[in-house]
Amino acid sequence: MERLKRRGIRVTAVTKAVCGHPAVARAMLDGGAEGLAEARLSNVKRLRNAGMMCPITLIRTPMLSQAGDVVQVCEASYNTEIKVIAALAAAARGQNTVHGIILMVEMGDLREGIMPQDLGDMAQQVVDMPGVALKGIGANFACLSGTAPTDGQMRAMSVLADDVEGQCGPFLQTVSGGNSANLAWATDGNATGRINDLRIGEAILMGVDPVSGDQIGGLFKDAFTLVAEIIETGEKSARTLASCADSTLPRLRIVQNNSETTRLLLAIGLQDTEATGLTLPRGNTLVGATSDHLVICTNDGTLCVGSKMRFQMNYSALMRAMSAPDIQTNLKNSPSVPNAGESQGRSKHPTLV
Ligand SMILES: *Cc1c(COP(=O)(O)O)cnc(C)c1O
Repeated sequence: MERLKRRGIRVTAVTKAVCGHPAVARAMLDGGAEGLAEARLSNVKRLRNAGMMCPITLIRTPMLSQAGDVVQVCEASYNTEIKVIAALAAAARGQNTVHGIILMVEMGDLREGIMPQDLGDMAQQVVDMPGVALKGIGANFACLSGTAPTDGQMRAMSVLADDVEGQCGPFLQTVSGGNSANLAWATDGNATGRINDLRIGEAILMGVDPVSGDQIGGLFKDAFTLVAEIIETGEKSARTLASCADSTLPRLRIVQNNSETTRLLLAIGLQDTEATGLTLPRGNTLVGATSDHLVICTNDGTLCVGSKMRFQMNYSALMRAMSAPDIQTNLKNSPSVPNAGESQGRSKHPTLV
């Protein structure tokens, strides 16, 4: 975060992959993030219920049906629809407050965003609307289309920021250039122009640049570990496996040919995480995954029923695990916290450490 700060870019930490886990959010703020951003209102409420007072921005354009709640718990939100902004404004007037609006511009990812040529008009409408204040503009890259932003796109965004100010007046506090996929651009020595904010989740949590896959200096790649319990061990012949395989199931179904290995069944499945996003301990291979089971081949003879196996996760596997009701979240040096929306005290086996 220091490296970005020196370049005039502040970090808004994105907590959606940990479902707004308050302790993780606090760690992000302690690490230098200036505020938090969330995609889901339920996660924002979880943060607020845990006493988080920092600015929280909703980065998924709000649902019309949630406008009142959005104004209540978020200082600002990213928006693309004037109908939604009007509802936020009405709610804000009703609550005697002013809600911040950041307009999301389409810059090539083809997910959310106002077309650049429509931005000026939309900005003017926001400026003219009581109950909301135009706080900035933002763009998003590498989500739907998978391409990282170029320096040219970032320069175009700076020009858009100047244009909007020229056209309708207010200084834009926030010009948010994108997400973790912007890090290479931000640290490459390019002029940052008007870009003064990035919304970063993956890079902080996973410790890697999502575009290059390179570890980021000073960050850990193993902040999260998924632990699952073995519920069956033993040999099963490859022939039996092959004859059971249903070719209509497109899931992983790699039949091993190494007879030295033992087959393990683990009490964790696709309902809990993304099997293809797991890194297995050395000497283990993933055979397949179903909704509630993982099948693994191992050459570790010490593993038995009741043994725990530990996995590293990619971002999607983490996101799924953190929101799975049967995964318990244990923080190092603190008591375990159930995942969002769970009843307290339920005993569960797989854990995130
Ligand atoms: C998820 C998301 C981010 C954060 O992306 P990371 O890849 O986790 O850094 C930023 N902005 C928007 C709009 C998002 O949906």
